[in-house]
This record gives sequence, C-alpha cells and structure tokens, in this order.
Amino acid sequence: MRLSGYSPDVDSAYILEAAGRFHGHIGPWLALGVRAGLLAKTRLQASHFGLMADVRCPDGTPYTCFLDGVQFSSGCTMGKGNISHHVANGCSVAFRTADATESRRNLVLEVAPGLWAELHESRRLGDRQVTLLGYEVFGRPTELLFHERWESEDGETGGTEPESNGA
Ligand SMILES: [Zn+2]
Repeated sequence: MRLSGYSPDVDSAYILEAAGRFHGHIGPWLALGVRAGLLAKTRLQASHFGLMADVRCPDGTPYTCFLDGVQFSSGCTMGKGNISHHVANGCSVAFRTADATESRRNLVLEVAPGLWAELHESRRLGDRQVTLLGYEVFGRPTELLFHERWESEDGETGGTEPESNGA
C-alpha cells in the first residue's frame, strides 16, 4: 500500500502489519501505539529491555488497542512487567529508561486533541475503513499524532527536547 506523508523515522509499514497479526486487526489506535513505541526508542535511545511505559487511556476497545501497539513496538510488555495501564480520559503514554542510573525524565506522548476528536468520528466506520485509517494514521508526521513533552520525576514539565547532560 502506498502511504502518503510517510514519516522518515519509520522504516516501513511492515511493523504495522506485524503488529496487526499480533493484535488481530489494524486500526488507528494500534497504529498510534506502534508509532509511540518507535518514537520512544528513538528519543530515549533504548532497547526493548531498557524502557518502561505507563499508558493512560479509557478502559476497553478501541482505546486499549493503543496498549497493544505500544507493547509491540516498544518491547514494554505485560510479560516483562515493564508496562502499566491506568484508566484515564484522553490517551497518553509516558516512557522512561529502566536504567536507575539515568536521570529520570519521562517522555510523554499525548494523542493530539484534533486526532482524538477525529478518531471518535471514526468509531462509525466499517472494518475495512478502520484498517485503511490505521495505515493512513500510521503514515502521518509525528507532530500531527502526538503532543510530545519531557517531564521530570517530580512532575516538572520541560520543553520538547531533552536537556543536555552538561557534557
Ligand atoms: Zn484493536
């Protein structure tokens, strides 16, 4: 499938298709979760074993499809115990490195409000349209998907880029 507006930090749609096989279907919430996990690995320079994720979203599908996308691409999984789900309004995920020696700064990715509204409209779509929307959302630029910020452990919020380590 040809994807327009494809993000350069995502290699191919292969990972979305693989996530779809894991999850059972492809849709926009799964796609968002996959993109969030990929972004976290890039931003935090972490491996599958080096990340922790706290997901906040409503209970139940389609929101919890986001959880599976995050698990698939970030390696933060129920089985490894490095992901947790907190029932909340809206949808966001906070990633941090599991290494205790690292400065504890969380990368918070919040689903952009405009996209949140758009995806609520999508709940009236049929299965095939949901799949197509999943591919389309997956290919959108990061800034249209998430509000991205850094947050320290004490809750202080930072800018959109990590601070230097003083090096
Ligand atoms: Zn799903």
